Amino acid sequence: MTELSRIWRETEYRYNLIGYKCKNCGNSYFPPRDVCPKCHRESIGKMEKVKFSGNGEVISYTVVHDAPPSFKRQVPYVLALIKLSEGPVITAQIVDSPEENIDIGTKVHMVFRKIRQDGDSGIIEYGYKFAVN
Ligand SMILES: [Zn+2]
Repeated sequence: MTELSRIWRETEYRYNLIGYKCKNCGNSYFPPRDVCPKCHRESIGKMEKVKFSGNGEVISYTVVHDAPPSFKRQVPYVLALIKLSEGPVITAQIVDSPEENIDIGTKVHMVFRKIRQDGDSGIIEYGYKFAVN
């Protein structure tokens, strides 16, 4: 793969919520996987790349008070298990939303935010987070 296509590929995955859908049973998966865990061999060659809507709902959450050094400035923050409208469940941070607005069943949508900044190089990493609708 050329450098350019590698960057393009990484960008596509970083700025969109890309998963795979099994055309055999219709289940969607995130992160992407090559084989459907339900259909196994029958799904080979039938996994289709899909872009998820970014809409979902909170099925569980926790408030993080003690974070690794690169996340220290953000504490406390809410880490939630979010069930996407397409079915897969992912773990993500909820931002821009007061803790009291977050509950089981709260509807959320994906937003792109700075994940961390490398102080020396100035490189900023972005990734998906969620906000209350
Ligand atoms: Zn399947």
